[in-house]
Amino acid sequence: MMKKSIYGLTFEQLSAWLLERGIKRFHAAQVWDQLYRKRVASFTEMSGVKEECVKLLSERFSFQTMQQHVKQESEDGTVKFLFKLQDGNLIETVLMKHKYGLSVCVTTQVGCNIGCSFCASGLLKKSRDLSSGEIVEQIMNVQLHLDERNKDERVSHIVVMGIGEPFDNFENMIDFINVVIDPKGLAIGSRRITVSTSGLAKKIREFADTGLNVNLALSLHAPNNELRTRIMKINKAIPLEPLMEAVDYYITTTNRRITIEYILLRDVNDHQKEAEELADLFQDKKQKVYVNLIPYNPVDEHGQYQRSKQASVLAFYDTLKKRGINCKIRQEHGTDIDAACGQLRSKQIKKEKAQ
Ligand code: SAH
Ligand code: SF4
Repeated sequence: MMKKSIYGLTFEQLSAWLLERGIKRFHAAQVWDQLYRKRVASFTEMSGVKEECVKLLSERFSFQTMQQHVKQESEDGTVKFLFKLQDGNLIETVLMKHKYGLSVCVTTQVGCNIGCSFCASGLLKKSRDLSSGEIVEQIMNVQLHLDERNKDERVSHIVVMGIGEPFDNFENMIDFINVVIDPKGLAIGSRRITVSTSGLAKKIREFADTGLNVNLALSLHAPNNELRTRIMKINKAIPLEPLMEAVDYYITTTNRRITIEYILLRDVNDHQKEAEELADLFQDKKQKVYVNLIPYNPVDEHGQYQRSKQASVLAFYDTLKKRGINCKIRQEHGTDIDAACGQLRSKQIKKEKAQ
């Protein structure tokens, strides 16, 4: 039997699991401290934890359910990891350096079924969801990489923007968040975590109802149904009307701002017309949205799309600003190392198939 990752349990789940086996809650607190504060790398390294408790855990759980397969470091400090899972699947995790701290971009699924026409991740259909443990383990592996450098650096921010649609793996994604925000452990503040979705409207509502103060980003990429359906086929099943209703629900329920992601594709969605339409769409909630204009990372297989010209990017930005919409042009990371989401993985798979 393949052992599950020890990192998959929230503190409550760990306590309950141990209690069922007659071990009191304070032992769970000791285990948790070893996992996330001392950051031991194996059960044998655990100290100060009841022997029976370590034995029980080690029979059922594992510290390492993935191996580092490739690591690429960029000149700007971006590090891209490719991990091999127990079943041989490859996933991507990225560490990025910002002025405000270190953020990690995690993967939530092996492949993606949403199949957006511009994205490298959707090139390979989803073969399975990641467990909560496999998502937390990505953070732990990156933190371990930082610990090895001895610079006392901590992962301070998380973006759930790697391969996969996080709202299509909802429960595991929520467990993951509950593990990493736990103040007794990694204690990454919920406001420093952003989950990005392609627009599963029902799940946006469910996410609002969780009461977790985590940021939400919506991959919109087009301001009308005709264009959005053309570039994101999910828009056919969930068009802008129910999506905008879910956005309203999110804003009123959480009173939080929502980030709107908009990739600029040359001569596709980067005209003045679309900038005006986008501004119209959010006129009634200007204070509650923040538009991120994203330079497109070209993907070999999607040759029909190119990055917008700098002049169009600036004109788009100016129009939104003039209309009172908060926006910024996203800074790029690791362009020299296959930065586009899912790109390293799809290239590596092609390379290994060819060998
Ligand atoms: N599935 C989720 C989260 C993962 S994708 C979602 O779609 O929101 C994270 C972000 O990267 C999305 O906004 C997505 O549209 C964007 N993205 C995908 N491929 C890209 C590319 N080649 N260049 C720039 N951004 C890309
Ligand atoms: Fe999936 Fe997001 Fe890529 Fe669309 S953009 S295919 S939802 S990972």
